[in-house]
Amino acid sequence: MIMPQESLIVEAVPVFADNYVWMFACNNNDYVAVDPGEATAVSQWLKERKATLSHILLTHHHNDHIGGVESLQREFGAKIIGNKADAHRLPTLDHGISQGDSLDIAGCQVQVLDTPGHTVGHVIYKVADALFVGDTLFSLGCGRLFEGSPQTMWQSLQKIQNLPDSTKIYPAHEYTLTNHGFALSLEPDNQDLLELQKELMRKNDNNIPSLPTTLAQEKKLNPFLRTEDDEWAAKLGLATKSPQERFAILREKRNHF
Ligand SMILES: [Zn+2]
Repeated sequence: MIMPQESLIVEAVPVFADNYVWMFACNNNDYVAVDPGEATAVSQWLKERKATLSHILLTHHHNDHIGGVESLQREFGAKIIGNKADAHRLPTLDHGISQGDSLDIAGCQVQVLDTPGHTVGHVIYKVADALFVGDTLFSLGCGRLFEGSPQTMWQSLQKIQNLPDSTKIYPAHEYTLTNHGFALSLEPDNQDLLELQKELMRKNDNNIPSLPTTLAQEKKLNPFLRTEDDEWAAKLGLATKSPQERFAILREKRNHF
């Protein structure tokens, strides 16, 4: 059964300098945590709500995504779910998943998509209209290519772009303002980006997360999702390049921004 979106609750627990642990629940007070890099803030958050922790979903093996897993498992008895192909470098999994799997956990229907690029074993999770993308996609940016090629990451992003425009995107990091600066450096006269800047500054000044974003907004403004737009590419001097080549060039530029 697919849960109607109004029954899905998603909230952010900020940890470290710029990570979010996304907490979601369907129709009850039994939560699922995505990528708890740190346990204390998550534990506190659950206790304040007298909530339980049913499951932990992992997108990839980096320590800022898995550091709190074992402690939360001990405290709350949560079951750990992650990519079985990456199990050797994840905390001990209770359930290994792979591309196309569908899970029924804590009253939520969860679909698994694999999105290699940031790491080879990176997976993302779709729950109703929410997409928990880890370090694959950020608002106005995308993850660094630690293990995958530009081609691999481009294909993973294509997979996300094929989802409905109304999809809400929940990345694991608050990188939006820096990514915005990069996007604007490519296209300084983009009125939509200039307009968005005011909103991002206001949220940043008030410590309000800029996330979630929507796929519609990202397709319009995220440079890494615009590589098939020939008119835009021409403005950037990339008209003769293929979409994959444009992606590789932009990713390399972003690394030095
Ligand atoms: Zn990472």
